[in-house]
Amino acid sequence: MKFKYCPKCGKELIEKYSWDEGGVPYCPVDDIMYFDTPKPCVVVAVLKDNNILLLKQSYIFKNSKVLVSGYVTNGETVEETVYREVKEETGITIGDIKYLGSEYLSSKELIMLTFMANYVEGEINKSDEVEWVDWRELENAIYEMEEDEIGKNVVRKVLSEVGYTEDKAYVYDNNKG
Ligand SMILES: [Zn+2]
Repeated sequence: MKFKYCPKCGKELIEKYSWDEGGVPYCPVDDIMYFDTPKPCVVVAVLKDNNILLLKQSYIFKNSKVLVSGYVTNGETVEETVYREVKEETGITIGDIKYLGSEYLSSKELIMLTFMANYVEGEINKSDEVEWVDWRELENAIYEMEEDEIGKNVVRKVLSEVGYTEDKAYVYDNNKG
């Protein structure tokens, strides 16, 4: 997001030169440069045996299931975000968190850091923010995530990580192409 006014004091920002970045909006009162940075968020594929944890959250996608996701908040590491979001949204405790790469969503200026993690313990106990959450067979997940392109990419990476070699998980992809 490009800032015009200082979010701290409300003063109109001026341009300040910053090496490679060129002119950057700057508040001389608070001495802060407001770089045009995306908002970091996490997307997590939680695995238990051959199953993956899918959620229904209509405010994200009306007709698709999605993976656990959430914003990185100030004061925590990204790994802590992954652990916290899974716990808050589903009640599940996870371990073996593995980074799978990032995706940029320009419409929302999000940098989505994607992960896989293993179930450790806990019963599903969803938050009010989630309409439905349950385990689904990993090889059927893509069929239920139609609108969620980034989520489907994460599942494809997970299939590769777990060494999945069958065709079934990709039938939907193949029929589309
Ligand atoms: Zn200011």
